[in-house]
This record gives sequence, C-alpha cells and structure tokens, in this order.
Amino acid sequence: MINLEIESLESWSGVKDRPMIIAGPCSAETEEQIMDVASQLNGKQVDIMRAGIWKPRTRPNAFEGVGEDGLKWLQAAKAQYGHKIGTEVANPQHVELALKYGIDVLWIGARTSVNPFSMQEIADSLKGVDIPVLVKNPINPDTQLWIGALERIRGAGITKLAAIHRGCSTYQKIRYRNLPMWNMAIELKRLIPEMPIINDPSHIAGKRDLILEVSQRAMDLGLDGLMIETHPNPEKAWSDAAQQVTPDRLVEILGLLKIRTSSSSNVAFNETLEDLREQIDGIDRDVIEVLATRMRVVEKIGEFKRDNNVTTLQASRWDAILKDRIATGQSVELSEGFITAIYEEIHRASIKRQSEIMNNQNINA
Ligand code: PEP
Ligand code: MN
Repeated sequence: MINLEIESLESWSGVKDRPMIIAGPCSAETEEQIMDVASQLNGKQVDIMRAGIWKPRTRPNAFEGVGEDGLKWLQAAKAQYGHKIGTEVANPQHVELALKYGIDVLWIGARTSVNPFSMQEIADSLKGVDIPVLVKNPINPDTQLWIGALERIRGAGITKLAAIHRGCSTYQKIRYRNLPMWNMAIELKRLIPEMPIINDPSHIAGKRDLILEVSQRAMDLGLDGLMIETHPNPEKAWSDAAQQVTPDRLVEILGLLKIRTSSSSNVAFNETLEDLREQIDGIDRDVIEVLATRMRVVEKIGEFKRDNNVTTLQASRWDAILKDRIATGQSVELSEGFITAIYEEIHRASIKRQSEIMNNQNINA
C-alpha cells in the first residue's frame, strides 16, 4: 500500500455520500457556448464545470482549442454563475495561464500522464500552489505509470489530488471508444485506498447512448465521481461530438443512477456477507488446490514429452481443449470470454512449466 497523505475529496469539494460531478463541454468553442452551458448547468447537481482550452488532437489539422481567450470566457462564467472551473493543462505555460485566470481545478490528460518528463515539468510548475489536481490514467494500461504521475504531483506539495479513470486506447473494434480497463481503477484503489477516483464515462464510451451504463458501472464499483462531457448542442460540438450530452440529458442520467454505499450498518446484512465471504475463501482454497493437482499432471506430461522428444505445444490439442472448456463453461453459465481468459492463462503457465522441465531447469526458480 502506498500512503500519499492527501486530503479527502470531501475536504476540498464539499461532496459527501454522493458522486462528485464534473460537467461541461469537451472544448470551449465560443464565449456564447460557454455562457450558455454555464447558465444551463446552473442549479444542477454539478460541482465543477469543465472545458478544454488546449486540445490534444490526434491529427494537426483538427481543432486544437481556443487557447487563452477561452480562459477569459471561463472566468466570466465563474463570475456570473459561481461555478468552480476545471481545465486540462499539459505543460507549465498552461499551468501559469490557468492560474492567472483563476481556474479552480486542473486536470492532466491521458496523453500527458503517459510521459514522466511532462509530468515532472508540470509538477515543478505547481510547487507552492494550492489547487486540486486530477490526473487521468495514461493512454496505455499501466497502473504504475498512473501512480507515478500522481506521485510526481504529490511530490510538488499538492495535497488535493484525485485520479480520473478514462480507459485506454485500443486497436480492437469494441462497443466503446476505449477499453474501460476497470481493473486499473480497482488496482489503483487497492494500492492507494485514499485516492479518490473520478470516472470519465464520456471518453470510455465514446457514444452518448452508452454514458449511463458506463456511469452505473463506475457507481457499482464505488468510484467517487463522474466527469461527463456536456454541451448545449452536442451534435455541433467542435470536438468529441458523438459522446457529449445536453445539460437536460445529464440531469436525466444523474437521476437514473443507482448510488451504492461501500458498507452497511445493517447487522443481518453484515452477517450474511461474512458468511458468503467465508464460502468464497473456502472455494478459492479448493480452486488453488485443483490447479496445483492439474499442474502436477502437466509436469508428468512434460517429463514424458521430454523423454520422447516431443514438442510442448500441440496446437490441435490446445484448440480442442479450449473449445471443450468453453462449451462446458457455457453449460454452467460461464461466458466464453471468462473461460477463454482463464484457460489462456492456465495453458500459458502449463507450457512454461513444461519447457522448464524439458530444459531441466529448476521448476521453482
Ligand atoms: C478530454 O477530457 O477532453 C480529453 C482530452 O481527455 P483524455 O485526456 O482522457 O483523452
Ligand atoms: Mn473530450
């Protein structure tokens, strides 16, 4: 466990027993658009209004943000409606300008948190500044790199710190824009339990129709907030048009979310839960024992193949095993994806053990 000694989310945001909500457009586009969204978010359950000023776009000919002008609009929106304002910073110049215009919360994007040099430069520019900083997970699924980015900001003396989980880029064609990589958020919580995690369903989903289901998943995991891209006219947005929702839809989504608590004071509930957890602990011991028994047989096969000079991998046998196990899994309501993932790992470990045996390596090494 890593102890970063940060301040609680509640202490700097005032949010308690509900998710912290960050909403606003992907990008600031015009003064009218910013004032329009600020007025529509007024009185809604929004804790921080977001807008990107410098946009990290994939191709250079795309809209790259309005720059410093946008900060003036955000300052005006803050003055008129009292919203706390958040924006993305990617270098020390951005930090300096954001501070100059009274931005309340900074976040660091996925294309920046991936780069330790950039993170260190930003951290150095934040020394002596007291402002909440949110760090998105890097574009690649590397929890340690995410933690490193958070540690660099903490190292600069920032104690109002949170993570934003926005999934990872992928080449695969999937329903969402990003691979959600929920396990990165779970792993971050395990390693740094005090770190608040805000989910970004907009960049995970990539499509406005899927925002609710991703947000619910985040709430089911007990994540601490949501950052939902919200635009007065999403279809006409200058960036990320497909994933933005209107302020009215935002309110609808927030109303539909079921918010769960991480524990309950109900005695009967806790007793039943404890009982079920004991069952799980026992089953897991059995699972490990069965896997060990299987591995002993794998070792015998390894010795047998070595003595007869046969290869460790027989592709046709592996194919047959996988098909059979998937069918068996389906007959007891275990999905193909789950069985495939487990058996790929079991098979990988078996092959590794067999090649160790074939090469007479110490199997415990
Ligand atoms: C954004 O929040 O608009 C953004 C660019 O996000 P990310 O860094 O997650 O891609
Ligand atoms: Mn965006």
